[in-house]
Amino acid sequence: MKALREIENRGEHDFWRSGKVGSQADIMVHANQKEAFEAELASHGITYTVLFPSVHEHFEENRKIREAHVGSNKWSPYITIDEYHSTDEIHAYIEQMATTYASFNVRTIDLDVTYEGRVIKSLIIENAGPTKPNILIDAGIHAREWLSPAVCTYWINQLLENYGTGPGQNTYIDDYNFYILPVFNPDGYEFSQDGTHRDWRKNRADTGSVSGCYGVDLNRNFDYHWHDSGVSDVHCSYVYPGSSGGDQIETNIMETRFANIPATPILSISLHAYDWNFLYPFGYATGHYPSIVSELIALCNGAVADLNAEHADESGVGVRDFGCINAADLYPAAGASDDWYASQGVRYVYTPEMRGPSFDVPPTQIVPASEEMWAALKYMMDTM
Ligand SMILES: [Zn+2]
Repeated sequence: MKALREIENRGEHDFWRSGKVGSQADIMVHANQKEAFEAELASHGITYTVLFPSVHEHFEENRKIREAHVGSNKWSPYITIDEYHSTDEIHAYIEQMATTYASFNVRTIDLDVTYEGRVIKSLIIENAGPTKPNILIDAGIHAREWLSPAVCTYWINQLLENYGTGPGQNTYIDDYNFYILPVFNPDGYEFSQDGTHRDWRKNRADTGSVSGCYGVDLNRNFDYHWHDSGVSDVHCSYVYPGSSGGDQIETNIMETRFANIPATPILSISLHAYDWNFLYPFGYATGHYPSIVSELIALCNGAVADLNAEHADESGVGVRDFGCINAADLYPAAGASDDWYASQGVRYVYTPEMRGPSFDVPPTQIVPASEEMWAALKYMMDTM
């Protein structure tokens, strides 16, 4: 495990999953580094299997599935929940929700404009009012994790379009206020959709790299124990954390606007993919936990039990049971959103790493993934 961490910390190979004792790591290695990498693994006695012989082929396969896939409006009259959507489409959807449900105190706010000039938009649902607790949800920090904005969109659909007391409906917006950022990193998200950069993870900021590499890993850029672990100062690295904590537009928005939420949220969820695990803080180093860690674990265990029950009848690629794990026990990485939220006093803080078997899952997986994630969120909202 130590050898694997040392390889990961060099930041030259893209660790899709970090792996932990008793589990596996998924690592993308460039073709011209394959032999050297295999020799390095062998020298440490690390065994491996090949998950995707060609990542390019894997992306191509899923691209063809997406092209052939026809979205359905079965879940929402306004959007096809079972397709991946562009930033503009997701923003149009939340604008539509704000218009349609204005009487529920639903509105959008344009938070700022990205490096490439895209608006960062949040959806706010304050139907419950100032006496009720607040929930913060961010999605799409990592550009390539498309399941994240998709599941977030499904959650918005559930909260607003399925409001009521009939079968399959819910009234959570009476109990909680919601502050939702469905596309945290629009520049990176759009770049990952251009047909040639499916594995793009960072934003698209010009960091002054002499090699012409762009982008900062926004989930290493938050200003709490910034740069302590899990980062690389090589600008081209996929875990480049920026030149100082919170120096990126996207992270800075969260850090400055957070104070505008009327009361510190009781729950924050940062949606990521993939690892079949709910991570809880702290992630910057092992052995550091919020004071209420036993409650964090208990709520998490209940949520993943409901999540796992949701897919109990389902089988196939990418379907397996989730667990709960401390973020640093998975892989110490500083500057992530969850550590920052916990440092600001959010009580329950989770980073779900959703289903795989890579960050590129076909659109047919969006609804099942969303349903299991909704089961987990429901458990938390029912229990807190
Ligand atoms: Zn991620």
